[in-house]
Amino acid sequence: MATAERTGQCMCGAVKLTALPKAPELHACQCDMCRRWCGSAFVEFDVAPEGLDVSGPVKSFVSSDWAERAWCDACGSTLWYKLTVPGHETYAVSAGLFDNAGGFRLTKEIYSDRAPDGYSFAGAITRVTKQQTEAQFASLGEGETP
Ligand SMILES: [Zn+2]
Ligand SMILES: [Zn+2]
Repeated sequence: MATAERTGQCMCGAVKLTALPKAPELHACQCDMCRRWCGSAFVEFDVAPEGLDVSGPVKSFVSSDWAERAWCDACGSTLWYKLTVPGHETYAVSAGLFDNAGGFRLTKEIYSDRAPDGYSFAGAITRVTKQQTEAQFASLGEGETP
């Protein structure tokens, strides 16, 4: 289900984004890499490659054989996780760049069993464990972890 474009920016305003979400849904990742990258869970919405327009100073880091992570080179804001598996290219754009997280609701948490003991997401969301998440990634034909 498509939804309307959202515009967002990094903390300093140097990077501006226009994104057309694939669906009006937020997803959270509790994996160890996202935790270190963001300081907590990474909350994002998915955007097809043709649905994202970006201007400004972007740097990216190849974080695995199938993904890279991007940030603003001026202020360090987390911008997106990009799945780079051929045929599956998708941007998981940081919801925090958009006012009110785009106005979307959290529907899914992956690596749910890797969440710290001290906090958690409330509500009836789909929770996918590390093992289940990695089985889904393995089905893409690449590796074990995002
Ligand atoms: Zn910035
Ligand atoms: Zn993650």
